[in-house]
Amino acid sequence: MASSIIRSKHVITRVIDDNASEIVDDGAVYQEDGAIVEVGRFDDLKAKYSPDEVVGDGTHLVIPGLVNAHHHVGLTPFQLGSPDLALEPWIVVRTMNRDVDNYLDTLYCAIQMIEAGITTVMHNHATWRKTEGGGFHESGAHVMQAYQDAGMRVAFSFSHRDQNRVAYEDDDKFLATIPKDLAERIKNRLVETQMSTEEYIALFEGLSRDFGEDPRIRVFLSPGNVQWCSDGFLTAVKEAAGRHGTGVHIHLQESFYQKLYGMRTWGKTPLAHLRDLGFTGPEVSCAHGVWITDSDIRTLAETGTMVCHNASSNLRLKSGIAPLNPMLASGVGVALGIDEAGINDDNDMIQEMRLVHKIHREPGVYSPAPTSHQVLRLATENGARATFFGDDVGTLEAGKRADAVLVDMNHINEPYLDADANVVDALLYRGRGVDVDTVVVDGEVLMQGRQMTRVNKSEVWRALKDFLSRELSEAELERIEVAQELLPHVNKFYGQWHLEQGDSHYQYNQRV
Ligand SMILES: [Zn+2]
Repeated sequence: MASSIIRSKHVITRVIDDNASEIVDDGAVYQEDGAIVEVGRFDDLKAKYSPDEVVGDGTHLVIPGLVNAHHHVGLTPFQLGSPDLALEPWIVVRTMNRDVDNYLDTLYCAIQMIEAGITTVMHNHATWRKTEGGGFHESGAHVMQAYQDAGMRVAFSFSHRDQNRVAYEDDDKFLATIPKDLAERIKNRLVETQMSTEEYIALFEGLSRDFGEDPRIRVFLSPGNVQWCSDGFLTAVKEAAGRHGTGVHIHLQESFYQKLYGMRTWGKTPLAHLRDLGFTGPEVSCAHGVWITDSDIRTLAETGTMVCHNASSNLRLKSGIAPLNPMLASGVGVALGIDEAGINDDNDMIQEMRLVHKIHREPGVYSPAPTSHQVLRLATENGARATFFGDDVGTLEAGKRADAVLVDMNHINEPYLDADANVVDALLYRGRGVDVDTVVVDGEVLMQGRQMTRVNKSEVWRALKDFLSRELSEAELERIEVAQELLPHVNKFYGQWHLEQGDSHYQYNQRV
């Protein structure tokens, strides 16, 4: 039996309500074989138990492991050659990204996330990232293998689409509007990611069989987004999730074009369509939800469907600002995600929490603004729920798994911080990913003094550099050429959409 005491200056064990968290000063967490036995004062626990090890010297802030509840890749699209544009044209230029080995790429982001205090991630994997010469299964397996090697918890899913894959219109209809040779080249590429509903469910079942026994892994299902999926596919996924007792992750109303697609196609929002299909429910988490209506917010609350809010991504891809305050006021379960890349083009979850904390501060004395405690809850407990690790992590309490992060408080406190400042406020106002010193998952130390214990960071960096030092392949060159030729046609397509004036959730600058 392996046991340890995780020692702190302060332990934040859990968020109690919107304005308070439970904090134990000079506190500690005692764990045996990864299970938390007791949380209390260090002196008391030290006298009561004989741990194999004491982690931390009593100067750190200890918090529950953070959950990044929406994530796709390691090296960011910007690193790989595509600048930020509005979401729809960006989806086109993103295909210009270089191919990266899935295992190395995932190790890279796992290291970055652990360094930022993220212990659990919702990894949504694209079908176009299938392994060279291999198939979808190998590609997914390589991603999960990397998380296993790094030691993180992961809810993994393959994001799939079976319609409207070039723009938000039937593939053949759209391709008929562009030059014939370009359309042919795009068709050839679409074949590569083609999968029937049965094949997709079989892929999920195969990966569940191979990885589902690992207590740090959940395998999810993921229809890419409502406009990208036929009703038949959505219904089959819902049914399979029920049969296997697993979660479903989907993008939803990320841009106003996506909302408009719903109004044009069904005369209602995509979420209303999902509700009418019987798709919504507590096992479903929706990434983004920027363009949701008041009626959508009621649907989310009534059905227990969760939203993974991605503030940085929504700013970078000109998507807008999700209505967090109305969602929280209505009791919608919201988690936080960094998506492809945060505001710093990295995985600094503390910075992402700060952005969320600030961006929803509506003007006016009586206008709502999320508290630091609420934001911490989104990044811990709610993220744990969305990834189906809710019974295991998200708080530091007896009976849960010991996923804890030790934050160096020097930068936060020095040279001076008011003695009455709440510790959770201090973390949200002044903390940064680089302040994370030590990370524990299941009682196991994955990083200590910013040194990774399981994987060799410099080797991973070197291997990635080597991998990307090769010449562009023919397939990469072809993708770049096709994307450059396709972009003006896609821009023209969306440019013709009539943007109606609707009710907006946030009245940021519309008061006077
Ligand atoms: Zn996404």
